[in-house]
Amino acid sequence: MSRDDYEVVIGLEVHAELSTKTKIFCSCPTKFGAKPNTQTCPICMAMPGTLPVLNEKVVEYAVKAGLATNCTISQDSKNDRKNYFYPDLPKAYQISQYDKPLCEHGYVEIETENGPKKIRILRIHIEEDAGKLNHDDFGGGSLVDLNRAGVPLIETVSEPDMRSTEEAEQYLRKLKSIFEYIEVSDCKMQEGSFRADVNVSVRKRGNSKLGTRTEMKNMNSFRSITRAIDYEVDRQIEVIENGGKVEQETLRWDDVSGKTFSMRDKEDAQDYRYFPEPDLVAIKLSDEYIENVKKSLPELPESRKARYLEEYKLSEKDANIITASKHLSDLFEEATRISGNSKAVNNWIISDISRILNEEEMEPSEIPFTAEELAKMVMLIDKGTISSSIGKKVLEELFENPKDPEEIIKEKGWIQISDEGAIKEIVLKVLEANPQSIADYKGGKDRALGFLVGQAMKETRGKANPQMLNKMFIEELKK
Ligand code: ADP
Ligand code: ZN
Ligand code: MG
Repeated sequence: MSRDDYEVVIGLEVHAELSTKTKIFCSCPTKFGAKPNTQTCPICMAMPGTLPVLNEKVVEYAVKAGLATNCTISQDSKNDRKNYFYPDLPKAYQISQYDKPLCEHGYVEIETENGPKKIRILRIHIEEDAGKLNHDDFGGGSLVDLNRAGVPLIETVSEPDMRSTEEAEQYLRKLKSIFEYIEVSDCKMQEGSFRADVNVSVRKRGNSKLGTRTEMKNMNSFRSITRAIDYEVDRQIEVIENGGKVEQETLRWDDVSGKTFSMRDKEDAQDYRYFPEPDLVAIKLSDEYIENVKKSLPELPESRKARYLEEYKLSEKDANIITASKHLSDLFEEATRISGNSKAVNNWIISDISRILNEEEMEPSEIPFTAEELAKMVMLIDKGTISSSIGKKVLEELFENPKDPEEIIKEKGWIQISDEGAIKEIVLKVLEANPQSIADYKGGKDRALGFLVGQAMKETRGKANPQMLNKMFIEELKK
């Protein structure tokens, strides 16, 4: 049997940290990167006698996420205690939701080779994050930082609907993009604000019963996730092909060796002894409340995409790339509004900006310049003040040291030479230095013209207006 005889099945549990100002059950700030244990209070440190109070924004954000992913919102929901011991969980239980999650039975749509596909969402529930253990800061010891304890999370659990690594990646990107659009989470993966538990199994094609899955927890980069799935699929197929059985277990993915390792095994029936959280009241939502949250939702990627195809005549591919990120999408719309040149703005985003983001491994949200600065650069090219090859240099400068493009080109002396006298001077100089090209051109070799223009560009370090050069050369050569 070969790999093609097996079907891959993937289900994802995604944790997104909500971007509320304060934690879920106390008023400590949630800001990332503060000194350890400076954003804590008796409640999130689990002092005896303290009581949690549910942050209303958390409910609102979770409902937003549910509506944006086509879920049914439960009007009757509650919190539950999930009991387990871990050093970063000072209460020895996590307040989560068990049998009555806020949102259920939604879906997101992804693009596949065979057209759009719905990935079903089983549920979205709210819960609190745990603290963080720092194992290697001081040789040997483990230190607990409780700044993250009580940071609000939504956990989105998919059905096992994904059938390939690509589909899993697409689903994650789509979910991330939706959460960014509705601004419930900043989804910064490197800060752990958007992380996934990846469940993988394989089965022989045609089997209706799911295979035994393994789970890799808390993965927070697309690259690790896709590599880990590919590795795990191969490993599981090999186990089965060799007559073995895949064990249900939690694995740890190691980026350096590119392998998975067993963490804890067969936690099939890990008993969390869930029970309703007695310190919190039930969550009852009125129709009106849900309706109001619905009204507050911004335009989602799907609708923006349709608009870009229609209004700006973008290609399907370009519209997909731009609308995948709210930041790129906002950049596109704002720079187009200011410059009036959607085509140029689209091109810059799709080609050079995307390339630089890739090379620098940056998220679109980390683009340091504003839409206005991009628009101004486009307008300088449109006016002929700079050439588009100088535009590329300005863009690089905007990434390095963003400021008004007009200032950049003045400082760097990049203004295009469009003065007729100056152009003529260059043309004559180049002709004088290249008599052979003149002869070639007159002998019918049109290529010689391109060479001459190239020489003139070299002479002016790319600053001469290429259309003017062309025209002037032809004029002179005809004489
Ligand atoms: P938990 O991991 O917390 O025990 P579940 O049993 O509900 O919770 O499963 C969680 C995730 O695992 C879901 O996203 C689900 O789609 C996925 N999953 C369940 N069974 C399989 C399977 N056989 N193969 C791949 N994914 C699976
Ligand atoms: Zn607190
Ligand atoms: Mg799980």
